[in-house]
Amino acid sequence: MIVMENVYKKYPNGVVAANGIDVAIEQGEFVYVVGASGAGKTTFIKMMYREEKPTSGKIIVNGIDIAKLKSSKVPLFRRSIGVVFQDFKLLPSLTVYENVAFALEVIEESPRIIKKRVMEVLELVNLKHKTRMLPSELSGGEQQRVSIARSIVNSPSIVIADEPTGNLDPDTSWEIMKTFEKINSHGTTIVMATHNKDIVNTKKHRVIAIDGGMIVRDEQRGDYGYEA
Ligand code: ADP
Ligand code: ADP
Repeated sequence: MIVMENVYKKYPNGVVAANGIDVAIEQGEFVYVVGASGAGKTTFIKMMYREEKPTSGKIIVNGIDIAKLKSSKVPLFRRSIGVVFQDFKLLPSLTVYENVAFALEVIEESPRIIKKRVMEVLELVNLKHKTRMLPSELSGGEQQRVSIARSIVNSPSIVIADEPTGNLDPDTSWEIMKTFEKINSHGTTIVMATHNKDIVNTKKHRVIAIDGGMIVRDEQRGDYGYEA
């Protein structure tokens, strides 16, 4: 579960990117975060995985007050959150298998468990047949599916995605959306910032709209609500 209480974020340059945010997201929800460029979507979601610290306010994720969390405890906390980016951020010299296994190797899981878990998540994203390929040998949609596999390999309770379909064509975007739906159906919370009006209006979920660092709309089964 994610709770924010009276959250403010002022960047060193004076920009206020979060201006009094109160929100609660239950375990297992699927949430779209929408809003114009510069509205504060990325800041909002970065604060959920302690990539940014709020200037003031409380952020409780899975029972931990992450605004107060010591830096030394951040890596352990991050393992409970998967993150997916618009530009995939795969390691170019590692194969598909190695990109996904990496997070488990860091925590020194046994080779047997690593192999089992990596093949499980690659099967879930339909990439079991591409384990030995490099990211540069894959289509954009396939690269994003590798990055989704990587994000869930630690079995996180929450997956946060910042414009995951931003670099993909419409058909491929729908394929990525199906993958998130599948992960959500297993009980994982999904928080997805997106400009994809078609997806938001067709595959209905909770919509949180941000403008000027504030939540201006929060609807179950909401609409995209903007023209672009
Ligand atoms: P969005 O994701 O909706 O485009 P952001 O959260 O990225 O919005 O940005 C919100 C505001 O905060 C914008 O005015 C942006 O320029 C500013 N901003 C974002 N990151 C930083 C940063 N690291 N330093 C200073 N200003 C920032
Ligand atoms: P799409 O047009 O669907 O985005 P591509 O045309 O880029 O996909 O790729 C189609 C298929 O060919 C994909 O399954 C991809 O993995 C494979 N492929 C693309 N480039 C290479 C390459 N350089 N080496 C091996 N396989 C490749």
